[in-house]
Amino acid sequence: MSKAKSKYTFHQSVEYYFDKAAPITKHPQGLLDQIKAANSVYQMRFPVKIGNDYQVIEAFRIQHSQHRLPTKGGIRYSMAVDQDEVTALASLMTFKCAIVDVPFGGAKGGIKINPKAYTTSQLQRITRRYTAELVRKNFIGPGIDVPAPDYGTGEREMAWILDTYLTLGKGDIDAYGCVTGKPVNQHGINGRREATGLGVFYGIREAVSHADDMKKLGLSTGIEGKKVVIQGLGNVGYYAAKFFEEAGALIVGLAEYEGAISNPKGLDVEKVVKHRKETGSILGFPGAKDIKQSDKALELPCDILVPAAIESVIHEANAPKIKAKIIAEAANGPVTPEADDIMNAKGIMVVPDMYLNAGGVTVSYFEWLKNLQHMRFGRMQKRFDQSAYEGMIRMMETLTDKRVPKKDMAMLARGADEIDLVRSGLEETMVGSYQQIREIWRRNKKVDDLRTAAFVNSINKVAMDYLALGIFP
Ligand code: GLU
Repeated sequence: MSKAKSKYTFHQSVEYYFDKAAPITKHPQGLLDQIKAANSVYQMRFPVKIGNDYQVIEAFRIQHSQHRLPTKGGIRYSMAVDQDEVTALASLMTFKCAIVDVPFGGAKGGIKINPKAYTTSQLQRITRRYTAELVRKNFIGPGIDVPAPDYGTGEREMAWILDTYLTLGKGDIDAYGCVTGKPVNQHGINGRREATGLGVFYGIREAVSHADDMKKLGLSTGIEGKKVVIQGLGNVGYYAAKFFEEAGALIVGLAEYEGAISNPKGLDVEKVVKHRKETGSILGFPGAKDIKQSDKALELPCDILVPAAIESVIHEANAPKIKAKIIAEAANGPVTPEADDIMNAKGIMVVPDMYLNAGGVTVSYFEWLKNLQHMRFGRMQKRFDQSAYEGMIRMMETLTDKRVPKKDMAMLARGADEIDLVRSGLEETMVGSYQQIREIWRRNKKVDDLRTAAFVNSINKVAMDYLALGIFP
């Protein structure tokens, strides 16, 4: 799909962006070549019994960079999976982890199937066999390579991967850290499910908080009242839509495979999801206008356009028709290089994927740490903090001779639960990383957009690791 819409394949488009940023960093060419290259490619084919016959399944796991270990990245199930796509996604993982200071190398996996064409037990068989192949070649493990969900996979698949790894494992005490995005009751972490969507929200909230940048776009600061269009109501798009809505944005358009809907007064996300579940289609939602050709929704008038599905949806042909002022790349690679140039020329602000959708891997990092420490976050200090806050409030009450009402006390003297810590860590990460890339964008005259700034930042970080490792003395 990506191939027809751009003269670059998806992998070539990541390389194109890399090559644009690399000369700005001034590292030796050989080091840049190493940072750009995908290190290990495992292409496999295995048989799975489907009905009365066997099917040969094609799959990949690609580790782009082992400058930090484990390598990290999701596994997608889609008919578009091929070596080019998985390599592109694996390299984006390297730069993504570097940007948000998550200490992993980049990897990605993919199985070339349409998950909707299989029963649950067939999908389970495929997933378990894929995991067994990874174990066999030492391509999975808490210190080696840690998969996670991606397009077409979720908590259920991660639980199967964990169980297969445990079954084949040899008493590895850290085995639960072999995969992230697991169900909470299967050694997952609270807050992972919505992490990518929430990260998208935190990232955009930060982007729109800078008055000078917004002035250039002709926008006011703040999320409230902003008109948002979201393409894709999967895990990422759905939660992003919810968080934008909660913060007072108007969701004026929502797009899915079967079509799109719009309402300039705003759509109720939860009701749209319910309607789609009941009728099998997003179309026909009461009060909204139907858009039969789904990708036309990208051209709706709005302030923020959030492509949250797959790569190359904004391309040379539709880029000139985009009316949004900000493109929030919740998906990986939604904008082709040709379209990126058009956006930059039009003065549209593109907040790049490798930063904006890094919330998922950030919380995956927290989950992995939880698995290695064998304890949920907050267990040790929650009660301690609570009584320390209570003590402080009591002391103030004595000094001022005033009483804090009981309900306020419960709120003020609260120790943090796991979800509070996960959200606070995610917010800190997304805000801090935006400031890093914005600083590069604003200060370096050779950097004309946030994507180039993000690449410069991550190339520098990965280069530092290589230099420190002594590989390039
Ligand atoms: N698949 C997600 C991504 O593209 C998450 C990766 C992870 O959590 O390791 O960032």
